[in-house]
Amino acid sequence: MLYQTHLVIHLDHIRANLLAIRAVIGPERKLLIAVKANAYGHGAVAVSRMAEAAGVDWLGVATVPEALQLREAGIRLPILKLSPAFPEEMEAALDAGVTLAVCDPDNAEALEALCAARGARAAVHLKLDTGMARIGVQPPSAPALARFLAERCPHLDLQGAFTHLPVSDDADPAYTEEQIRRFRATVAAVEAAAGPLELVHCANSGAVLGHPEGFLNLVRPGIMIYGFYPDPGTPRSIPLLPGLSFRTRVSFLKKVPAGTRVGYGLTWAAPEDTWIATLPVGYADGFNRLFSNRGRVLVAGRSYPVVGRVCMDQTMIDLGPETNVRVGDEVVLIGRSGEAEITVDEWAKALGTITYEVTCQISGRVERLYSDPQAH
Ligand SMILES: *Cc1c(COP(=O)(O)O)cnc(C)c1O
Repeated sequence: MLYQTHLVIHLDHIRANLLAIRAVIGPERKLLIAVKANAYGHGAVAVSRMAEAAGVDWLGVATVPEALQLREAGIRLPILKLSPAFPEEMEAALDAGVTLAVCDPDNAEALEALCAARGARAAVHLKLDTGMARIGVQPPSAPALARFLAERCPHLDLQGAFTHLPVSDDADPAYTEEQIRRFRATVAAVEAAAGPLELVHCANSGAVLGHPEGFLNLVRPGIMIYGFYPDPGTPRSIPLLPGLSFRTRVSFLKKVPAGTRVGYGLTWAAPEDTWIATLPVGYADGFNRLFSNRGRVLVAGRSYPVVGRVCMDQTMIDLGPETNVRVGDEVVLIGRSGEAEITVDEWAKALGTITYEVTCQISGRVERLYSDPQAH
């Protein structure tokens, strides 16, 4: 075993989450899963491969290199790039069979010119901004852009239209309900201008959990497939299983006398004679430096505090005056240990952030070990 600090990726849990979503949306709708940012830290290739076998229809990425990585691994599902492509990226995207989002005529024209030069066609999805002000055409301009595609871009097939819902995870449904109405009305105008669309979609995890009126004919969850809710206030209408556990091992152990100061800055002093364990995990692994003097970990079902500052590669914990813990023992940073558990939600709350950032910030240095008891 060369790894010490590692993530166990529970592919069986992620599969169960996918099947739970499928049960709610039914067999006819398409299911696109967001695998951007290395599948929110879980490993895009392994998750996509499992998802392909589990009946997922589409994958969503943020960047062209993310799509290339999936193609190089042999994944053949359709891939949608969820954000606009620069003209310099389009050739590589087309080579990899990535479906691109179109937000404006200049962008469409660049793609049309490239397709014409290659003598090839490309499907595109029109991105509408119905109330987030991130990317997308404004609803009043959408029919004109659709007509532009139909009349001036003979190599582009307008396959779909989508929008994004910035508060679908909120306990108050009003803004999202209005946004979905605006989206449907805009899609109707686009279809009147340019013909019927095959795929119309807006439902991120918040909407999959709380807005069935937004399912339309494709849903687009991300965080929930990894087992985490977008916000503590989102309805937990679908039970989810956590997609990862984060673990390390005790690397060093010593008893120190009362008054011993610990770590960079000497910010913590032992109140009594105590056992200090060192863990080979630090902020370079994504064990956030904000856990200095306030994080906790689990060893054999018991909780121990982080003492002193989290270093780049190592962290100290206080085991107390008597301990059975030994060098090599497993330490749980996120996940279950006996009856005890540290959740991604606990980290999000402690760090003042969201579940998404917690899993995305576990760094590339941390070995991913894939667990899939049901696979054969
Ligand atoms: C990331 C992303 C999603 C998935 O969002 P979650 O909140 O993780 O479910 C869906 N649509 C778009 C456009 C995205 O960028």
